[in-house]
Formats: sequence, structure tokens, C-alpha cells
Amino acid sequence: MQSHEPVLSVDLTAIQANFSVVQSLVGPAVGVSAVVKSDAYGLGLERVIAPLWDAGCTSFFVASLKEAISVRRHLTQADIAILEGLLKGSMKVYRERRLTPVCNTLAEVVAATSEAIPYALNLETGFGRLGLRFEELRSLIHLRRQAPDLVMSHLACADDAANAHNRVQKNRFTGMCAMLAPSTPRSLVASAGVFLGADYHFERVRIGSALYGLNNAGLTPNPFKPVVRLTARLLDIRQIHRGERVGYMGAFLADRPTRLGIVAIGYRHGLAWQVANRAFAQLAGWSVPIIGRVSMEYCAIDLTDMPAKLARVGAWVDFISATAPAEDMARSAATVPQEILIRTGASCARRYRQAPTGRHP
Ligand SMILES: *Cc1c(COP(=O)(O)O)cnc(C)c1O
Repeated sequence: MQSHEPVLSVDLTAIQANFSVVQSLVGPAVGVSAVVKSDAYGLGLERVIAPLWDAGCTSFFVASLKEAISVRRHLTQADIAILEGLLKGSMKVYRERRLTPVCNTLAEVVAATSEAIPYALNLETGFGRLGLRFEELRSLIHLRRQAPDLVMSHLACADDAANAHNRVQKNRFTGMCAMLAPSTPRSLVASAGVFLGADYHFERVRIGSALYGLNNAGLTPNPFKPVVRLTARLLDIRQIHRGERVGYMGAFLADRPTRLGIVAIGYRHGLAWQVANRAFAQLAGWSVPIIGRVSMEYCAIDLTDMPAKLARVGAWVDFISATAPAEDMARSAATVPQEILIRTGASCARRYRQAPTGRHP
């Protein structure tokens, strides 16, 4: 069946390469877990986990029990930790499928340990989200419960290496971990935190964004390979006069004779409404402005400044590519690139550039 649906292409080999980049950054003494929550940031949990396993990744973090079960179906040997916390009615599932809940409250730890379920322990060190605070950790120590398999926390400001809050959280984390058995493996950082220095790595890092090619630490050049390409069909090309308007509410006013392209991608495919009149698409190597308003199924591009013979109806127009990363679109849409991936991934057809098949069970 032919389709004008926009396509999100995912390069699985690049995801494998990015896993190896992180491994070499942290060194052999530090474990690297893949964070594949939210359907692997919209790229397709079920498609990325086997290539990651083949690349040597044996530990995965997911958002929900549902995602954990999905990973277990494909990877019988992997370690799987669930960030959403403990569901009291699901003890049997944790046990039978060897899934590790990340306990976010004292009550969850008590519930897990009462049933001898192995668990990870989340500590609140200054993110202002989930996890045990200092006093709660002290209460837990007094209860003398079964120790966690992993103790973790999460940095709020790791994207900004100069932010003093990083050190504050690290010091709190170190202090709280000292209350636990010294053999308990510790994990503090996600992608950007890897670049804060080896003293932030502890025994394990939890990597999402970097695997998918995002450059949260803002390094030049981006040490991670581009993973995603978002491309859509050019449906029509037409010439409009100076003074004509384009799109809902006439949001674009042609101040010159303008060659207009209509592209089969709109906000229902995750193209943020805010990018119009701010961001660029790429066609045949040319940057072309997205103009007017993004509508539900379409958007308009201005082709006036590129050679006419290079713009053909039916051509593919890139909205995310190696040269126009998701970060660019995120900036125009006043959001983070993770949201761009999740929105477009969830609503476009996904195609995969296959990794060589390997040794996963
Ligand atoms: C999402 C998440 C990560 C991964 O974050 P990235 O910055 O995308 O690498 C790690 N740890 C926790 C607790 C998370 O919620």
C-alpha cells in the first residue's frame, strides 16, 4: 500500500554505537544501563532492546510493568528495573518474571521486602520528585530490611555542568549511600551526567537520550551518532503572488512572489505547532523555512530560494536529520528534544535501519 505518511527512521546500528561510546566514556568498571522508558523515547522499545543486548547491554530501565514484561518477553536474561515504583498487586509478576521495582517510598520498600522481592532504592537528593528523603532512609535502616540490589538518585541540573546543584546532589547521595552496606551498587547519573566527571559515575550509569543520539550536555561536536531521521512527502508546489497569505488565519504573508511547497506532515504527526515561521526543513540539501501555521495533516514550506529543478512533487522533505538534529526543532518549539522524539515516534510510521543480528537469546 502506498502512503503519504511521514516516516521516522531509526538507525539501530547507531544506537549500538552510542551504547559503546558511553561504555568507553565511563570505562570497564562502570555498568551502563539502557533507559528504554516511554517506548524507548518513542523509537520503539521492542525494536531497540535486542540490538542493545547484542551490543553488550544487559541492564534496562523501563517506566512501567507493562514495558518490563515486554522487555522480558524478548530478553530472558536481562536485568530489568521499573521506575514507576512497586505495584502491590503485582508481587507474583515481579517474582516470576524477575523484574526489579525501583522503590520510591518507605512503604514500597516494606511491601517488597515483606515478600522478599529484590528491589532498587530511589533516593531524593534534590530533584524534588520521587525517592526516600534522608529521614525516611534513616527509618528504613532502623527497620533492618533486606538490602536493595541498587541504590539510585537522579540529577536535576546535569545538562548544565557548571550548576552548583550537581555537586550538592552528589554529596547528599554519597552521604546517604554511606548509611547502606558498602557493597550496594550506586547509580546517580543519566546521559548528561556522564560528562560531569568520573566521581559522578559510581558503579552504574543510566543512559537514555545519548543512546538515541541526543546531546543533552551540549558538547561540540556531539559525541553521539545521529539515530533519527524524520521525513515527509512534498505533496504539491505552487506559485503565489506577493500579498497572498498562507494557512490558518493567514499566518504567513508573502512579501514577494513565493514558491510554496505543501508537505504531508502536521501536528497530528508530532510536528510542533510552534515551529511554523521559526524552524527549517531540508530539501535536497537546502534549508527551507516552515511557514504559516502547522495544520493537522500538513505544513507549508517556502521553496523560493532554492533551485526550482531540485524541488519535485513526491520528494522527501527532512524535518530531523543528521544535519538538522531534534535539538534544532526542540529549540524552535520551546521544548526538549526528548519530547520531539516521543511525539513524532508515537505518531509516525517507524522504519528501522537494521543492526546485524547477533547473540541475543
Ligand atoms: C529518564 C531517566 C533517565 C535517563 O535520562 P537521559 O537523560 O535521557 O539519559 C535516567 N534515570 C531516570 C531516573 C530517568 O527518569
